[in-house]
Amino acid sequence: MNLLKQKIRTEGIVLSDSVLKVDGFLNHQVDPVLMQEIGEEFASRFAGEGVTKIITLESSGIAPAVMAGLRMGVPVVFARKRKSLTLTDQLYSAGVYSYTKNETNEISVSTDYLSSDDVVLIIDDFLANGQAVLGMLSIVEKAGASLAGIGIVIEKGFQNGGAALKDRGVRVESLAVVDSLENGSVTFHNEEAS
Ligand code: 5GP
Repeated sequence: MNLLKQKIRTEGIVLSDSVLKVDGFLNHQVDPVLMQEIGEEFASRFAGEGVTKIITLESSGIAPAVMAGLRMGVPVVFARKRKSLTLTDQLYSAGVYSYTKNETNEISVSTDYLSSDDVVLIIDDFLANGQAVLGMLSIVEKAGASLAGIGIVIEKGFQNGGAALKDRGVRVESLAVVDSLENGSVTFHNEEAS
């Protein structure tokens, strides 16, 4: 997606060889025009898959997921990272290991908002080692729902999440794939290092 790649090039900050900061348009400040295009792109890539629900993870997945949900005409459920006081319901939960923090956190979705009738599209902001998406996948499996696929805004192709998901036979659509962050610059997939 060209607009997204352009944004990453102009506003993304390479923090290290493995971490890309995109607070200017996705992880802190949100660019609604870009989010709308992202939503449309996900909707067109997963059109005809019979999606009934989008699942994402709070907080940075919500903006792209809502725009996709608007375009596809389906509700969006965000998995919660903390158990809310008002969440007295039954929950589907999964552990998500964070390599950066070296800790496992539980994510949960109420059984009220996901069922075996659903066909789910999982959307997230980043795909790195795949733990966040695998957690959401486990929740979808616990609910007995079907999976249409996974939509990722930015995949870091040099980490192993994409391969782990494709090995499971899951369809992964990433709107920008970063192959390298070495030497402080972003190299996209199928692009020469500059
Ligand atoms: P995972 O390793 O589970 O695929 O990635 C976990 C989460 O860490 C992602 O959902 C994303 O929020 C965050 N993350 C991973 N790598 C990066 C990165 O390079 N930049 C930013 N901003 N977030 C990241």
